[in-house]
Amino acid sequence: MIPGFIDAHIHLLATGYRGQRVDASACISEDEVADLVRARAAMTPAGQWIEGSHWDHNLWPNSSFPTRASLDAAAPEHPVALASKDFHMLWVNSRALELAHITAETPDPAGGSILRAGNGEPTGVLQEADATKLIFDVVTPPDPVVSRRLMEQELAHLQSRGITTIHDIEGDLSLDIFRQLRDEQKLGVRVQMIMPRQMLSQLPGLGINNAENDLLRVGGIKIFADGTLGSQTAAMLDSFEGSPGNRGILALPEQEMMDTVQAAAELDLMIAIHAIGDRAARVALNSIEHAQRTLVRQGNKAMPLKNVRYRLEHVQLIAPEDLTRMRRLGVIASIQPFHAVADRDIAERYWGRRSRRAYAYRTMHDMGIPIAMGSDAPIETYDPLSIIYAATIRRDPATKRPPWMPDQALSIVSALGGYTLGAAYAGAEEQRKGSLTVGKLGDAVILRDDILRVDQQHLSENGVQATILGGNIVYGSV
Ligand SMILES: [Zn+2]
Repeated sequence: MIPGFIDAHIHLLATGYRGQRVDASACISEDEVADLVRARAAMTPAGQWIEGSHWDHNLWPNSSFPTRASLDAAAPEHPVALASKDFHMLWVNSRALELAHITAETPDPAGGSILRAGNGEPTGVLQEADATKLIFDVVTPPDPVVSRRLMEQELAHLQSRGITTIHDIEGDLSLDIFRQLRDEQKLGVRVQMIMPRQMLSQLPGLGINNAENDLLRVGGIKIFADGTLGSQTAAMLDSFEGSPGNRGILALPEQEMMDTVQAAAELDLMIAIHAIGDRAARVALNSIEHAQRTLVRQGNKAMPLKNVRYRLEHVQLIAPEDLTRMRRLGVIASIQPFHAVADRDIAERYWGRRSRRAYAYRTMHDMGIPIAMGSDAPIETYDPLSIIYAATIRRDPATKRPPWMPDQALSIVSALGGYTLGAAYAGAEEQRKGSLTVGKLGDAVILRDDILRVDQQHLSENGVQATILGGNIVYGSV
């Protein structure tokens, strides 16, 4: 028996939608994705949106971005919007562009870009939230009933994997569903919500921002500092390999980030900053350092801060001096070790020699930087044992490839720590969760085999026998 797993970074409703929509993860060319869309269009009434995700141009011949032309041919009667695997790009067809009034004259938004042909016409790919928002504003909103059913399915699935708490990074629809389920006593996984920074001013009024509620809390906000490696939108100190002058995208101006971090810290919230490139990490740490200094100057007179936690999400590439700064400022590395094994090829392609110091989990751990682990589902799997395998063996359990940079592998004890007490600390809940200790909540998982003794190569096959929440068996049997 070990403490229940805490997934410190997941998007649960989006994970549910993945199963309902076009899933392009297995496609190795633009044409294959278009074929999936054509098949979906044949069974979808004309005019209705076709949505999907998980296309990855990095896996296609010559890795170029797709265009609207192939989607126009596949679904001339439907608006189509397909998110990339990392969810930082949208590939749309001409009908979708028309509905969103995106033309050659539409300027690029501040923190995003509209890819264009030589004549300025949009090619059909939009990068980062400020640009993709133009489409999401006109997409038919999801059906709340369907959404709730999908969420319930995913919650049951989480229980079967031994997960007893999630930090769900989503917006008000997810919060509404979790509230309903909690009120009906159907919420079988504890949830801490991390809401978009745009909702910061509403959070104090939501009424569940307190540590006393063990099932559902709004714990913090999520801020995007940059984009991603796969979309080449991560904010870099130096250009991407083979793309001189391209240093990615800073998702919001530095001053705005400073103001947001400080405002959230003063509200005693957790602050989770998405930072994949080394320039994003630097800007994020600047903001955190500024907020911490301001709070010290103010002397925290208004209220004692108990819940504020500073986290960098992903922290895939970071300058050595900024790692030292993370340590000094007590910033948590919120990592998703499956990214390290799934991204190995694009890390080498786009970061070149810099990839040798990317995903440096062992270095962070040995320096004393607090580690919290999670999945980033739906981008990757949320099975904790597969993720712990990726963290400790540094390879994808589904492939036969040799480990990638095995010197950065975590020990099994450190990886377990990141998935339990470390994640609890990242949620300011280390007094209640994360270890099997008298006085804590009694969240645990029973595995078939002793995780500390089982052959590490077979770690991910270890079955969950039972999941226990607050002392009650919610999955399996003892
Ligand atoms: Zn994420």
